[in-house]
Amino acid sequence: MLELYFTPGPSALYFTAEEHIKTALKKGVCSTSHRGQQFKDIYKECQQNLRKLMDIPEDYHVLITSSANEAWERIIENCVEDESYHVSMGAFSQRFAKIATQLGRTAHELVAEDGTVPDFKAIEVPISAELITICLNESACGTTFPLDSINALREKYPDKLIAIDGVSGVPVIPIDFRNIDTLYFSVQKAFGLPAGLGIWIVNNRCLEKAKTLEAKGKVTGSYHRLPDMVEKAQVYQTAETPNILGIYTLAKVAADMLEKGTLAIRREIDYKSAILNQVIDAHPQLHHFVENDKYVSKTVKVIKTDFDSGLLIEHLKQRKIHVGTGYGGYKNQQIRIANFPTHSKEQTEMLVDLIEAFRA
Ligand SMILES: *Cc1c(COP(=O)(O)O)cnc(C)c1O
Repeated sequence: MLELYFTPGPSALYFTAEEHIKTALKKGVCSTSHRGQQFKDIYKECQQNLRKLMDIPEDYHVLITSSANEAWERIIENCVEDESYHVSMGAFSQRFAKIATQLGRTAHELVAEDGTVPDFKAIEVPISAELITICLNESACGTTFPLDSINALREKYPDKLIAIDGVSGVPVIPIDFRNIDTLYFSVQKAFGLPAGLGIWIVNNRCLEKAKTLEAKGKVTGSYHRLPDMVEKAQVYQTAETPNILGIYTLAKVAADMLEKGTLAIRREIDYKSAILNQVIDAHPQLHHFVENDKYVSKTVKVIKTDFDSGLLIEHLKQRKIHVGTGYGGYKNQQIRIANFPTHSKEQTEMLVDLIEAFRA
C-alpha cells in the first residue's frame, strides 16, 4: 500500500495529478516559453476551468501568485492605504494582520479564542478601515466561518472591501463572489496539488482601489502591482516566469473536479466529515477542539487528545497513514486531519476504523 496523506497541507495529491504531471512532461510543459502560445493556452484553460468550478463571475480577474502568503502582501499593498480590519481565528488568519502591520498599516484585529468563531455582533469594523479580512476555514484550529456572516458583513459594510482566505475551504465551500471582493488560495490543500502556486481572484473594486493609491503616489508593489497583473492576465500572461507545471496541473485537476461535479464532491465531503465527527464523539480519549458544532470545519478536523498526540500519529504512520500534528503550541495535544476532495470514502473509513480501535 502507498503512503496515505491526511495531513492538512501539503496533503495527498488529487488522484489524477500524477497522470497529468506525466503528460505535462511529455508535452514539454516544463520547457516551454511563458511568452509562447502553449503557455497562454494553459493559463486560459486554468482560468476558464476555475471560473466554472468555483462560479467566479466574468468580471473578476484570476491571477497567479506564488502562494497565499503572497496574496496577503499583495492585498495590503494594493487595497489598503492606512487601515485594515482582521477577524483572526488562529495562526493563519493572524498572519494577515501581522503582514499589514509589517507594511506600515494600522491593523485592527478581532482575535477569537482558539477553537471559536466570533459572533457576528462582535465584528465591529471602524469607519476608517478600508478592508475586512476573513478566513473561511482556519486550518490551525479547525474552525469554519459561516457563509451567512460573510453575506451579512457585505450588507452591513457595503463600502469596505472584503477579502477571503479560501485556502483549505475552496472548492468545497461554495462562495458567493458577489458578496466579496477578493479571494485567494494555495493549491496544496483542498485542490491536492504540489505546493508553490497561489491563485488570487480580484474584482474591479480592488483594481480601482490600487489605481487610486497609485494616483496618490503610493507604492503598490513592483513586478506584481495589481493593475499590471490584471492587464497581463487579460492576455494570459504573467510578469515573471511562473509555475507553468503547477498552472497546467491545476487546469487539468479543475477539469476533473468539474466532470465529477461539485455536488458529488460536496456530498462525499459531508459523508467523510460525518464519520470523522462520529469517531471523535464516540472515542473516550478524543474530543473536538471546536466545541460549537456550527463552527466545526468539514475539511480540517482538529482533535484534542487526552494523551500525547504523537502516540496516535506514530501508530497511524506505522500503517502508512499520515495525519497532522497540532499547530504551533498544540503540537503534542492535538491531531489535525484533512478531509479534502482527493480523500476517498474508503480511505477515510479505514482511517476512522484505526482511530476507533486505538487506545493510548
Ligand atoms: C496553509 C494556509 C495558508 C498559507 O498557505 P501558503 O501556501 O503557505 O502561503 C494560509 N491560510 C490558510 C487558511 C492555510 O491553511
